[in-house]
Amino acid sequence: MSLIVQKYGGTSVGSPDKIKAVAERVLGYTRKGHSMVVVLSAMSGETDRLIALANSMQEQPDTREMDVLLSTGEQVTISLFAMAVKAAGYDAISFLGDQVKIMTSSRYTKARIKSIDTEKIQNSLDQGKIVVVAGFQGVDENGNITTLGRGGSDTTAVALAAALNADQCEIFTDVEGVFTTDPNICSSARKIERISYDEMLELASLGAKVLDIRSVGLAKRYKVPLHVRSTFVDTEGTWVVEEDEKMESMLVSGVTYNKNEARITISKVPDKPGIASKIFIPISDAGIVVDMIIQNTRAGEMTDLTFTVPRTDYVKALEIVKKTAAEIGAEDVSSADNIVKVSIVGVGMRNHSGIASTMFHVLSKEGINIMMISTSEIKVSCVIEEKYTELAVRALHDAFALEMDEQQ
Ligand code: ADP
Ligand code: ASP
Ligand code: MG
Repeated sequence: MSLIVQKYGGTSVGSPDKIKAVAERVLGYTRKGHSMVVVLSAMSGETDRLIALANSMQEQPDTREMDVLLSTGEQVTISLFAMAVKAAGYDAISFLGDQVKIMTSSRYTKARIKSIDTEKIQNSLDQGKIVVVAGFQGVDENGNITTLGRGGSDTTAVALAAALNADQCEIFTDVEGVFTTDPNICSSARKIERISYDEMLELASLGAKVLDIRSVGLAKRYKVPLHVRSTFVDTEGTWVVEEDEKMESMLVSGVTYNKNEARITISKVPDKPGIASKIFIPISDAGIVVDMIIQNTRAGEMTDLTFTVPRTDYVKALEIVKKTAAEIGAEDVSSADNIVKVSIVGVGMRNHSGIASTMFHVLSKEGINIMMISTSEIKVSCVIEEKYTELAVRALHDAFALEMDEQQ
């Protein structure tokens, strides 16, 4: 008998019938004698609907109230799921984040999990109940409801698996696993059998939303093997585990895109010490994460500074930057949010040259202009116009022969 944590995403619990089907699936494990902790997302589209409601009330909705609102989505699915289990003659109990308790920081809409009190869950499991926990939410030390950021239910599941020392952590979703690129935009995408935590971290940070990046970070830290698999087909999915030799022989293991990006350029910034910190400190103080930064300098002259921020923070970031630009005497601020960051990822890149140049060549052959470039040990990213997303992803997927089973 094992303790299994399973997380089901929005599409998996998108209707009453789907919730019943998930309950039936979980009961299959209960009948085999396993102890089950189930983490659920809100019904598909529900979090978006709630955000739209908030936007219709306030131009930039108050973040504390936003979290009170957003946490209701998961409250609906966990209670319905518990009812479905009871209707089938078994016992279940649902818990909200602040009932468990899942303690978080106070950074509303982007809170981080600090600790989890497992006593209530353990007691309920000991009483033979299926425990259902609301994903994506917690509570801060003052009792305020918090949420973890979009996709945060994955993180709730992994954090619970680590805290409970679970035997298995499974992430059920609407695709059969982690693919070489988004299977919904590239039909030749191939399911990856095993992927290292580090590569998955890169894929997730670069836009592969199949797993929330913080869930992968936690899984790596607490050595929780993750099984990402389909709710609708009963096949083996993808294992996210520690790196092994076979993985290293892969040159490029995935292509990702991230549309949640916006570009801000400050023109003719005075080229002197302290300017970059004047620009970036107020942005980080507002909790906004800056991604790529490009600065051109010619000694002693004015310089241009371009960087990207999450599109969700674009309006706020622009407001802050315009204020700073006026203070430091920069000439102009321009910006665009119709951009996308396309990336190739692979641990094999560490020992091979020519990957980045191949990527640039492939994009140029398609007539796609590259606006920004950034690289790390195991990834190359290019910012391009959003309208070329699918073309770029497919061309790169083909060029790196990702549809084949093995690479040279
Ligand atoms: P859930 O609601 O179950 O959490 P998400 O929508 O957050 O599901 O994540 C699953 C989606 O991630 C898939 O439907 C797919 O479009 C997208 N996706 C993006 N990149 C990848 C990838 N490399 N492999 C698998 N899915 C991907
Ligand atoms: N419901 C939240 C979202 O849509 C959290 C999640 O599904 O993981 O982002
Ligand atoms: Mg998700």
